[in-house]
Amino acid sequence: MEFVFQRSYRGPLKAVLLDWAGTTMDYGCYAPAVVFVEVYKRKGVPISIAEARVPMGAHKKVHIRQISQMDTVSERWQEAHGRKTNEDDVQEMFEEFIPLQLDCLADYADLIPGTLDAIADFRQRGLKIGSTTGYTGEMMELLLAEAKKRGYEPDSTVCATDVPAGRPEPWMCTQNAMNLGIYPFESIVKVGDTLPDIEEGINAGMWTIGLTKTGNEIGLNEEEINKLDTDVLERKMARAQKRMWQSGAHYVVDGIWDVPAVLDDINARLARGERP
Ligand SMILES: [Mg+2]
Repeated sequence: MEFVFQRSYRGPLKAVLLDWAGTTMDYGCYAPAVVFVEVYKRKGVPISIAEARVPMGAHKKVHIRQISQMDTVSERWQEAHGRKTNEDDVQEMFEEFIPLQLDCLADYADLIPGTLDAIADFRQRGLKIGSTTGYTGEMMELLLAEAKKRGYEPDSTVCATDVPAGRPEPWMCTQNAMNLGIYPFESIVKVGDTLPDIEEGINAGMWTIGLTKTGNEIGLNEEEINKLDTDVLERKMARAQKRMWQSGAHYVVDGIWDVPAVLDDINARLARGERP
């Protein structure tokens, strides 16, 4: 056959999948970071908050394992315990992590400014709203109640513990698509503040938007950001933007308030037959 004909989706976006900490709530993504620091402190192996942030986005147990595998942390662990970390240590720390995280989650549950306006915009477009997270189901139950009190209620929430594997694998995204009854995947956009957020969206064949200012890449809350000198903030933003672009994000913006304008651009690209 000399010619083949290829089907292409020309419809609009149908759903947006939002991350939680650093995307819709917890400006600067502090809640998990402070607890990882505490868990390692209790093992006699102090880690910095910057070290605690490196694997952010992953399932929290995977995150603890990845911290333990960092060279700097591994050396300190060796000094303190005379051996490397093993899977029992990871499990023990994860078990300590859970109640500590549950205890302080509500303190970090305020919505990031612009979230409710963005949600209203998505609703007005007729988009379904799904969400993915590295938090466990128990943690999300608490956070969903806190978010609801503040006026945010997504149509679907999938945790790393609900699927065979969390980020960067795509299953939380594809499970959301199933829960929402939406396809094709190019009609869905994934928004998040970490590199694994972007990877999971790309792995699912969806559009991706990386957020820099409000998330883990800068790792500062709104008050701290406002205190920074302009040139320091610009340097931090440039570094975060570069990392997001290099992870393959289709768009990189400051915060969720920038997302509605991006949706217009994606819709125009879909109408031309472009795919993520
Ligand atoms: Mg996040």
